Amino acid sequence: MAKISINLATGSLQKEEIIVGIDLGTTNSLVAFIDPDKNPKVINDTGKGLLVPSIVHFNAAGDTLVGNEAREFLITDPANTIFSVKRLLGRSYKDIAGHQDTFSYKLIDEGNDSLVKIQAGDKFYTPIELSAEILKELKARAEHALKTPVNRAVITVPAYFNDSQRQATRDAGRLAGLDVLRIVNEPTAASLAYGIGLDPTEQKTIAVYDLGGGTFDVSILAIQNGIFEVLSTNGNTFLGGDDFDRAIVHYWIDKNKLDATALDSGLMQQLRLKAEEAKKALSTQNLFNEKSGEIWYTLDRHTFEQLIEAKVTETLNSCKQALKDAKLAVTDIDEVVMVGGSTRTPYVKAQVAAFFGRQPHDRINPDEVVALGAAIQADILAGNRSDILLLDVTPLSLGIETMGGLMDVIIARNAKVPTKAGRQYTTSIDGQVNMKISVYQGERDLVQENRKLAEFDLKGIPSMPAGMPKVDINFILNADGILTVQAIELRSGVKQEIDITPSYGLTDDTVEKMLIDSITHAESDVAQRMLIEARGEGEQLVYTAERFIEKNSFILTSEELENTKIHITALRAALSEGNKDIILKKADELNEFTRPFAERLMDMAVSKAMKGKAID
Ligand code: ADP
Ligand code: MG
Repeated sequence: MAKISINLATGSLQKEEIIVGIDLGTTNSLVAFIDPDKNPKVINDTGKGLLVPSIVHFNAAGDTLVGNEAREFLITDPANTIFSVKRLLGRSYKDIAGHQDTFSYKLIDEGNDSLVKIQAGDKFYTPIELSAEILKELKARAEHALKTPVNRAVITVPAYFNDSQRQATRDAGRLAGLDVLRIVNEPTAASLAYGIGLDPTEQKTIAVYDLGGGTFDVSILAIQNGIFEVLSTNGNTFLGGDDFDRAIVHYWIDKNKLDATALDSGLMQQLRLKAEEAKKALSTQNLFNEKSGEIWYTLDRHTFEQLIEAKVTETLNSCKQALKDAKLAVTDIDEVVMVGGSTRTPYVKAQVAAFFGRQPHDRINPDEVVALGAAIQADILAGNRSDILLLDVTPLSLGIETMGGLMDVIIARNAKVPTKAGRQYTTSIDGQVNMKISVYQGERDLVQENRKLAEFDLKGIPSMPAGMPKVDINFILNADGILTVQAIELRSGVKQEIDITPSYGLTDDTVEKMLIDSITHAESDVAQRMLIEARGEGEQLVYTAERFIEKNSFILTSEELENTKIHITALRAALSEGNKDIILKKADELNEFTRPFAERLMDMAVSKAMKGKAID
């Protein structure tokens, strides 16, 4: 495949352009590149530091701040300061149910399968847009430090990220003006940084232990012929260095006999910052001892270790489970790699070493290792490493048309060939017996901007209510570049398939033009996609609300009924007007207004069920 890189300013091709590696983290993000001496290096933009806190703040003037500057507003303006957005990337409301409390900003809660949105001021943002802000900052820093345009990147994601989370990460990159060459697993990148997996004759099984700020995961990887296979992953997306800080805060509250219920947020924040400072200090010294005002901030290493012991044990239990899932014993592991700022804590290192019975790799800074490995992966993709064979890849994404003419990518661009991927779909209309499957190639959000490859009907789906049929669509791309698209309705077994050659009639020039277009149109594409999705959600909500009052008006007062109708009318008006933020706002208002009614109905059903039952 021709290696194409685009100068976005001129639209012209550049051959020797730099490709950066990006670690888009929950707590911190960073960008790395391969320096002229062929060593991976984290980019430090004049005094701004290596790590960019993954925080975005929207101020009243309409400016967007990212990183350390945004961090200051966590206390003073929490509603407009977005942190941990990676937890929301590619997730639906259902996915995060029960965790809303962790976020101090407003999540729109529709309790359904649509993707999460965040409200700040009068605007609604997708996690993709917010992640794009962080990526834009990293891109700008890299350009400033390297004094050259940076348009191509490799971005890392946790090994447990699903398709939708990976696609969202890709979209965020594109929205930031980056051509995302590949999405790489964080543990794979970390291994590459240690040189593990670079030799194609090497065969190894490794464990990567990643303890960050708010998340923990362990991955077991099998490496063979330079290919990394994830055998298993385990972890807890709500366990990390923040828990260590919290444990210290509680300890100091006790020791200083402070009234935990009467702490103002300023003091609380000071305790938290001091706790993190103490924790970091205890990674290299045995005692932290400071006094500020009336409060003693004293902590010795032994006490700290007791405070975090249970959390660390929990991570080891995850390691045990990951080994079990991979059907391996501790002795099968050839190497252990440490990732994440929290693995700087000596107690963590010692416990991990004891568990695996070997010294883990910890020579490289654990909060930089993923970005450094991503830079190495970028270098490999750039073809700068003659010793490593580049596998055949698909030049453009392959997918199908879904609701509203949107492109749903099934095999992402630059996937290694051969490959196989699939997803499940359902019907949108009651009694639908046919489903049209249109296959497209390209990077744009709307199918009409992509190349249509084929179309066929899956016929004979048994008549069922909308949403009931389960249609699996599989894409199988073989080593010769032939794509087999297979559709099967699982309840009935009805099946249909078709063979296509996606490269037919596709020139390098076309590929190049399609890539340039996808990046220059990224903003309008994402805006259109969001509008289409908001419309879909809004229409669905009008439908459900109308069905609800039709059936259950008896539980509503006439005033409630009247107001529900007013909210529905407002949402309808917004839908015909076509402004995404207004649609979402009206949908949210209708949702909030009717939520208690659904609960009321539930309570009535429960009390009805209880009646007549003897309670003794
Ligand atoms: P993420 O991958 O979640 O973005 P990082 O890998 O950057 O996060 O890890 C951030 C965590 O590492 C924070 O909780 C931070 O306090 C912790 N950390 C950073 N330096 C040290 C240190 N010297 N000792 C202990 N913990 C540290
Ligand atoms: Mg990380």
